[in-house]
Amino acid sequence: MTIVPEHLEGARLTIDLGALVANWRQLAEMVAPATCSAIVKANAYGLGLEEVAGALWEAGARVYFVAVPEEAVRLRAALPRATIYVLGGLFPDCLDAYTEFDFVPVIGSEPELRNWERHAETFSRPLPLALHFDTGMNRLGFAVEKARDIADRLRGGRLDPLLVMTHIACGDTPGHPLNQLQKTRFETVRQSFPLVPASFANSAGVFMGPDAHYDLVRPGIAVYGGRFGPRAGDHLRPVVTLEARILQIRDVNAGEGVGYGARQTTTRPSRIAILALGYADGFHRIASGSDGKPGASGFLHGRTAPFFGRISMDLAAVDVTDIPQAQPGDEVELIGPNRPLAQAADAMQTIDYEVLTSLGLRYHRTYISA
Ligand SMILES: *Cc1c(COP(=O)(O)O)cnc(C)c1O
Repeated sequence: MTIVPEHLEGARLTIDLGALVANWRQLAEMVAPATCSAIVKANAYGLGLEEVAGALWEAGARVYFVAVPEEAVRLRAALPRATIYVLGGLFPDCLDAYTEFDFVPVIGSEPELRNWERHAETFSRPLPLALHFDTGMNRLGFAVEKARDIADRLRGGRLDPLLVMTHIACGDTPGHPLNQLQKTRFETVRQSFPLVPASFANSAGVFMGPDAHYDLVRPGIAVYGGRFGPRAGDHLRPVVTLEARILQIRDVNAGEGVGYGARQTTTRPSRIAILALGYADGFHRIASGSDGKPGASGFLHGRTAPFFGRISMDLAAVDVTDIPQAQPGDEVELIGPNRPLAQAADAMQTIDYEVLTSLGLRYHRTYISA
């Protein structure tokens, strides 16, 4: 008997690059004539940097953002001609990597700016950068009040600003007053850089309407089919399917506990299916079932299979008492057409972003090509 690779893993993750590309194209059309970039930090939100970036490049995406230079090095190997911004800024101990691989640091502090200026003195060409202003998130970025000074300082100098940007703190809450305040502050910043392209919107920002698009938008989660706010994702296609195989099904008498800590007790004679998937695969333990609090649920043979008891490192149990067809070897859908990503995220008391970026490394990963 031949062993097919697919049969070696406990669970299967299918990533639909066609859906992902369709999502990106839809956003790109929505924001045209603004440029639609792609955010591929954190291994492309857990889905595979090289595969995702390759598909988006084919679709026409030319501008990419990663978080740290390590990701930028990987991305450069995959996309020799892309524009690559490093959101984490300029790491002072590896300036040569930025120039060697042609990364654009997103600079938001005085030491970074000074280091890049000094580095630029050794080049005959101006070095590119993006300027990040903090308009209310209090994370990275220059203070808004610094804009004029920085603009004066860069004029005719050795640095070439490609982008002026800020990042929205409350995009998931469309009516939040901070959204408008950040926009107003960003307008002030822009006045100091009238000729530099501007970028304001992440996924949520794309849906705030045309006056939030400026010259370039930076959607991440929307491209990956995830939720970013109340009316998010309505027209976007799901990208990820996760299915785990059933290793065993056991008959459990009424009144027995299942799994570590015996946290959930059968109230009837039950059939419990043991899945080859656990928290080591990114299916967080908080989605366990317990007496009085239901956990996540899977789906097979057209029915819901609730998690039963604690999720452990490599295993999880689901109740298949009402699904007599269930048998070992069956695959239970945990994320997919019948179990939306958002539902898994809710069961894990987190956001779609965290579910995706937690997806484990031991899945059999299949890519449906674009
Ligand atoms: C991650 C990130 C994005 C993308 O955000 P989404 O909510 O996933 O669209 C955009 N801009 C910056 C600065 C980011 O860090």
